[in-house]
Amino acid sequence: MIEIKDLYKRFGSCEVLKGINMTIERGEVVCIIGASGSGKSTLLRCINFLEKKTSGEIYIDGEAISKKKNNINAMRKKVGMVFQHFNLFPHKTVIENIIEGPVIVKKIPKNEAKNLGMLLLEKVGLEDKANQYPAMLSGGQKQRVAIARALAMEPEVILFDEPTSALDPELVGEVLRVMRDLASEGMTMIIVTHEMGFAKEVADRIIFLNEGIIAEEGSPLELFENPSHERLQTFLSQIL
Ligand code: ADP
Ligand code: MG
Repeated sequence: MIEIKDLYKRFGSCEVLKGINMTIERGEVVCIIGASGSGKSTLLRCINFLEKKTSGEIYIDGEAISKKKNNINAMRKKVGMVFQHFNLFPHKTVIENIIEGPVIVKKIPKNEAKNLGMLLLEKVGLEDKANQYPAMLSGGQKQRVAIARALAMEPEVILFDEPTSALDPELVGEVLRVMRDLASEGMTMIIVTHEMGFAKEVADRIIFLNEGIIAEEGSPLELFENPSHERLQTFLSQIL
């Protein structure tokens, strides 16, 4: 589904990603863990073309991401993204937020998009919030809307960048529940998270990023029970 070969990303003289190689299979759930500043967000943003890679290759469905505008738009339709701070449009209602992409980008008729949007709101347990504005919602509800919005584009993979880090602790569970459902339905997901319990339970594979390099990867059991990299041991002891 996704193949990354020797990906480098530099900001000026600061080398953030230093040769990332990874493959994500269809239906796989991969959690990326690592200290702040290790390059996790930059990696996701390169996959979604929010950042331009310095060098290397990223293939989605066997097709390389190139600089051509059509190609970028086609790729973006396949790759959904959920951000730490939700990034909902504040001046649009919940349902308007959800249908924006399908109507504008996919040219789906508004009524059809609305029907699909309502189904997705039901899926995330917010069908009664369709006509509210984001400011009226809790953080957990906003994030569930953001997930419904990503799903509305019918992506082939969804990237989550610390989706629960901005939430009050009591709201984390409702968002993780939605993500767990998606995982069990076979959605391909790449999740940057500090929720180790969730990662352990849901991930097929964990990737530990350290200073722009994949320092260790494997099943949750291998990584959490038997971390070999010293930095990973330290990281886990700090976070668990
Ligand atoms: P993480 O998500 O793991 O915390 P990031 O990918 O956000 O890490 O950042 C990795 C490094 O890249 C940090 O040192 C950060 O300051 C730097 N960085 C990220 N984005 C930019 C940018 N747009 N311009 C300059 N430096 C950046
Ligand atoms: Mg980050």
